[in-house]
Amino acid sequence: VLHTISTAAEMQRIALAAKRAGKRIGVVPTMGFLHDGHASLIHKARSDANVVIVTIFVNPLQFAPTEDLSRYPRDLERDTELAANAGADYLFTPVPHEMYPPGFDLTVSVGGVTAPFEGVSRPTHFNGVATVVAKLFLITQADSAFFGQKDYQQAMVVGKLIRDLAIPIQLVVCPTRRDADGVAMSSRNVYLSPEERTKAAVLYKSLQTAQNLITSGERRREALEECLRTTLNTAFGINIDYAAAADADTLEQCDVFATTQGIVLLLAVRFGTTRLIDNLVVR
Ligand code: AMP
Repeated sequence: VLHTISTAAEMQRIALAAKRAGKRIGVVPTMGFLHDGHASLIHKARSDANVVIVTIFVNPLQFAPTEDLSRYPRDLERDTELAANAGADYLFTPVPHEMYPPGFDLTVSVGGVTAPFEGVSRPTHFNGVATVVAKLFLITQADSAFFGQKDYQQAMVVGKLIRDLAIPIQLVVCPTRRDADGVAMSSRNVYLSPEERTKAAVLYKSLQTAQNLITSGERRREALEECLRTTLNTAFGINIDYAAAADADTLEQCDVFATTQGIVLLLAVRFGTTRLIDNLVVR
């Protein structure tokens, strides 16, 4: 049975007791409105840990005032069923003042990998992510944490957070789950009109086209980014935030990538008011 816990104190008490009993704890941090991408993370956690905690928290700190915090989709009833079916033991569902009580005044700020791409478009976003993730790690006492490659830069930020603070937790990054047309599953896909949803397939199509170019020997960044943009622009009326190629391990934007370097192709594109991201790693 799945237990829903809403206070940080009770969640931490349960986690500490489980640890004392020798259990291995896995955590899957989410913002809810769960889909099969989240389910794949929960399954992976189930196979790794004795106790699986799924957290659902739409973290105000990681949204800018202009972003979609107030309209972010929620459905706790459906989430409970999905999390239970995927094998979670606990659903941790704090309200904002539970995570940030009056007087809360701390920011966890990760440098370096937070600067480009999402960091340019959403300058306060990763501080919000790092702050909430650090706190969730301490509340859940997790031994392993499961994140999706879908949010590639976020997974790198969490990796850096873990290393720099020497947090005794293993980061597991899980592959991106996609719908049949290649569109990466995302809670935000519900914002899309039917027409925009059809157009969104261009994201993965452009990633695959650029991947083919890399496979055929292209290592020049400009040529790869040109290829991404050209394919994206076959969809009418979209707005490219960034379409980039970078070193897969450092996010460095080299002019020419060495054959030994992994390349990550990164996209952020607006379809109407909905901003979608996707990526593909080529090694
Ligand atoms: P979110 O609820 O969107 O913040 O996502 C919670 C976690 O699920 C993050 O680690 C995401 O990277 C991951 N995730 C989101 N979408 C997918 C997907 N399509 N496939 C795999 N993981 C995903």
